[in-house]
Amino acid sequence: MSLLLPTSTAGSLPKPSWLAEPQKLWSPWKLEGDALIEAKQDALRVSLQEQVNAGIDIVSDGEQTRQHFVTTFIEHLEGVDFEKRETVKIRDRYEASVPSVVGDVSRQKPVFVDDAAFLRSQTDQPIKWALPGPMTMVDTLYDGHYKSREKLAWEFAKILNQEAKDLQAAGVDIIQFDEPAFNVFFDEVNDWGIAALERAIEGLTCETAVHICYGYGIKANTDWKKTLGSEWRQYEEVFPKLQQSQIDIVSLECINSRVPMDLIELIRGKKVMVGAIDVATNTIETPEEVADVLRKALQFVDAKNLYPSTNCGMTPLSRQVARGKLKALSAGSQLVRQELSD
Ligand SMILES: [Zn+2]
Repeated sequence: MSLLLPTSTAGSLPKPSWLAEPQKLWSPWKLEGDALIEAKQDALRVSLQEQVNAGIDIVSDGEQTRQHFVTTFIEHLEGVDFEKRETVKIRDRYEASVPSVVGDVSRQKPVFVDDAAFLRSQTDQPIKWALPGPMTMVDTLYDGHYKSREKLAWEFAKILNQEAKDLQAAGVDIIQFDEPAFNVFFDEVNDWGIAALERAIEGLTCETAVHICYGYGIKANTDWKKTLGSEWRQYEEVFPKLQQSQIDIVSLECINSRVPMDLIELIRGKKVMVGAIDVATNTIETPEEVADVLRKALQFVDAKNLYPSTNCGMTPLSRQVARGKLKALSAGSQLVRQELSD
């Protein structure tokens, strides 16, 4: 990107009320069949337009075509039974009833490629597409088949690589893998998590990103954050190995978190998507607050590698609040751009 401090979002944006119940995670669709397909495309257009109006540089589909950032992808794969459910603990934090792996997993046909091609047809701006990361996928299922988190992650990585190559061919500029599990299972991340991620990006020529956050602003996550103490040093556990990896961009939660900013030094050389918008509050940041986070980050990341972004997805927020936050992100980034060019 030739533009300094290109802005983007970490992922999801609110859905219109005619598509799914608003301000709710994993909200069911209000339509079905062809009407649903058309409504998803309309919502994608609206979401794109709102990003453009707010001055966002790297745009996305706002995840308008999926209910859940992990399971919507898995629903399209073979080998997972959504009727056969077991209760497991997700990210060591909250219990959930999840689908079971019952056979070899495979992808019979592309999952998001039509949606990505549609987004491509609607804009000339750079586009970013999010996929779940292999470790986070594993952590969302009960596995009675492979009986090995590592083996299952490796199989998912191969499938993700097929999907990523198709997305690249459809014109996606940046493919992002969401790996909130990287903030929890440090030993596994270092043993096989980053290796699985690199398997997922093998042979890609487009840019690649990994998003590692502390989760949506839901109660299970905000309660967990309260137990993490005065300094959140989780990133420190995985950054050294990530710095050595082939991933181009690392997307992080920074504003209103207790992550010491100097940890970014550990991924020197990588592009860093710095979360400068809090998704767990309805308060809209001022441009000055956004700029302040970016200025702090600039002590540890070169300006050409700094990508202002949001802490996480904004699905649970109202559309009005999300719009305000996107505008604040743009305005705050513009303040710092001006300072850099002075
Ligand atoms: Zn996130």
